[in-house]
Amino acid sequence: MARSFAITTAITITGLLAAACGGSRPSTPEPAPVAPSTAIVGATLWDGTGAPAVVNAVTVVRSDRILCAGAAGECIIPPGARVIDAKGQFLIPGLIDSHVHLLFLTRGSAGVELGRDLRDLLAQGITTVRDMGTDPAGLLSRVRALQAAPRVHAMQLVAGRRFFFNGFHGTTTARGTIYRQPPAMAMQQLGWRPLQFDPESDAEALVAEAREAGAMGLKLYAHLDTGTVRRLTDAAHRAGMPVWGHAWVQPASVMEQVMANQNGVVHAAGLAGELFSVEDRDTLLRDGDLQAATAAVATVGAAHDPRVLAALDSMARKGTMLEPTLDAVRHSVSAYDAKLRHIPSLQEDYVRSAARFGMEVTRQAVRRGVRISAGSDHVSYGPVSDRATLFGELRLLVDSIGLSPTAALLAATRDAARAIGGWPGRQVGTIQKGRYADLVLLAKDPLQDIANLEYVELVMIGGKLWRPGQLRSGIAMR
Ligand SMILES: [Zn+2]
Repeated sequence: MARSFAITTAITITGLLAAACGGSRPSTPEPAPVAPSTAIVGATLWDGTGAPAVVNAVTVVRSDRILCAGAAGECIIPPGARVIDAKGQFLIPGLIDSHVHLLFLTRGSAGVELGRDLRDLLAQGITTVRDMGTDPAGLLSRVRALQAAPRVHAMQLVAGRRFFFNGFHGTTTARGTIYRQPPAMAMQQLGWRPLQFDPESDAEALVAEAREAGAMGLKLYAHLDTGTVRRLTDAAHRAGMPVWGHAWVQPASVMEQVMANQNGVVHAAGLAGELFSVEDRDTLLRDGDLQAATAAVATVGAAHDPRVLAALDSMARKGTMLEPTLDAVRHSVSAYDAKLRHIPSLQEDYVRSAARFGMEVTRQAVRRGVRISAGSDHVSYGPVSDRATLFGELRLLVDSIGLSPTAALLAATRDAARAIGGWPGRQVGTIQKGRYADLVLLAKDPLQDIANLEYVELVMIGGKLWRPGQLRSGIAMR
């Protein structure tokens, strides 16, 4: 671990640095800074805009915003600024995980685990997360009470009637008839609050309810047809809110979601929905039916099926983003690999075929120009070894999909900010004047090797500095 970095005041060395930067002093003295400033000096700056890295850069932060970032000489260090000597180090934007699920109520409580998890995420350089569906109001009120946490944006889950009422079709067994509880009920026990939307529901009212709860967008979940996807998307867009959805939302396929102007889809393996007719999609109501059907069709070769490729091409053309969530699937496969007593199951067939298919779909998506956002599907509860991470997702995007480290980093900075969208998305993701001062200083170059994201020296969020050691809970999360 760890070079140390020197923090000094600039009072005695401002002249020296100005000379070193090659910048002339302004003819009138700079006014005293209205708020404390910090200058990070000497690092290699990768600003996340897509521009090449700048060596020996100066990045100035005032209060919670970036004041200036560029080559030595482009940025004047305000008198009295705290100066961080970062020579030999690498400065990148705070990372964004655009797909997490933070609020799980186990025995009615999420307090300790949530706070610990968010501190660990911050220690990894993740300064913004998008919760893809739990309970926006409940989550945001819990996060507000925390001292150290990434910025949290919450999406509102929406599903159709069948998700809430499955008709109570019983399964006859020797011991009587077993009734499966609707999926929404299981979610509600975990503290999630999906909203129900039916063909006769008022889309504007649903959007208003989501907004009232603090959600910044909609996440479409299941049992929504093309017409309802379009009405929800139109209503949300009128309110300036993005709409994302599972790939696919049964019966609406990815192609139909794209044509309805949805902003993005999650889970590359869900492109398997393209391989069924609309009638078949509408009949796959039970998890078991869905898994069996997917396991039967989702081969590596099927990722090259013209229907899948047509959906990907439409995504590329319309700018619909894809969050592959490869690390979450990898964790599921690993859990089966680790079983000492192996008992084949439908669930395992499903997971293994979804993993192979999803990986190949992601390769095709990248080749065809679909924009990727690096959401991990991380959850904030349960054994740490079971949790997907942004670090894991980025490594898979490089090692298994073939993205360059730079392209993978863009998927967790600039493009993840685009995935979040709206006003919040325009404040984060790149190191540019006026954006939030959310920064990560690394001891090693992540553009050479994405695994170097592990060497976090310092995390800044809204101008506040943290060392990873101050944040980590002690449960290593890699
Ligand atoms: Zn998810």
